[in-house]
Amino acid sequence: MTQTTFGPTPHHDSGPAETAASARGLCRTYGRGDATVHALRGVDLDLPDGRFTAIMGASGSGKSTLMHCLAGLDTPTEGRVSVGGVELHSLDDTALTVFRRDHIGFVFQSYNLLPMLDARQNILLPLDLAGRSVDTGRFDLVVDTMGIRDRLGHRPHQLSGGQQQRVAIARAVIAQPDIVFADEPTGNLDSEASAEVLGFLRRSVRELGQTVVMVTHELDAAAYADDVVVLADGVVREHLVEPGTDRLVAALRGEAAVR
Ligand code: ADP
Ligand code: MG
Repeated sequence: MTQTTFGPTPHHDSGPAETAASARGLCRTYGRGDATVHALRGVDLDLPDGRFTAIMGASGSGKSTLMHCLAGLDTPTEGRVSVGGVELHSLDDTALTVFRRDHIGFVFQSYNLLPMLDARQNILLPLDLAGRSVDTGRFDLVVDTMGIRDRLGHRPHQLSGGQQQRVAIARAVIAQPDIVFADEPTGNLDSEASAEVLGFLRRSVRELGQTVVMVTHELDAAAYADDVVVLADGVVREHLVEPGTDRLVAALRGEAAVR
């Protein structure tokens, strides 16, 4: 893996960033014998705090598997993952479930809002489940940052896809998790709604200080991120810090990074 930088970034000019999540020697094998698939073949990765990172790569390169391992939704065959300084393999199933609930946010392609709850109730669900009270200042900040104040009483079927995904982002960030994972968050949206949702994801990083990691295969979506991790055949080919489009396209084609 090569790591390339264009000098100090505007977000971290006061020293090196803390690491929100990291992976060491991550391998994930599915099946056995002739049917063995090596989805991840030794991934080393540090995802810095307070940044918007896109994970890109061809279909089958291991993006979803990597995200699921980083988020504690899948168990690696080999290697280690830590999130917020906690080694996930040190947690038993119950502790891992609680850890995920309290420290990790998720945004799914299909929104996954509960249909019988209105937007406000959906956003507050993670706090309700954790038995935590609502900080009204935090709630107002998140709702206003996502531009959904006038939709709080609506149920999901009364909202557009883009509005539903903004509610889902609010739900993912309300409890200030160490990291938010989003797997193809604009996969069900038209280009206008995609741009809107990506803009709000970026606002959650810029204005709320949230760390976001997004799996995508779309160049347009990756352009909203600060940094891009390029996966190929289950390994990290490049971890690009603030690449321009030219460098990103070259990396995706498998060419050496051009400066
Ligand atoms: P991507 O998200 O980049 O398209 P995935 O992480 O979904 O890639 O998959 C990586 C490889 O692992 C693919 O070859 C895929 O077929 C395989 N794979 C993923 N999940 C499973 C599974 N549950 N069982 C068997 N093979 C799987
Ligand atoms: Mg995938």
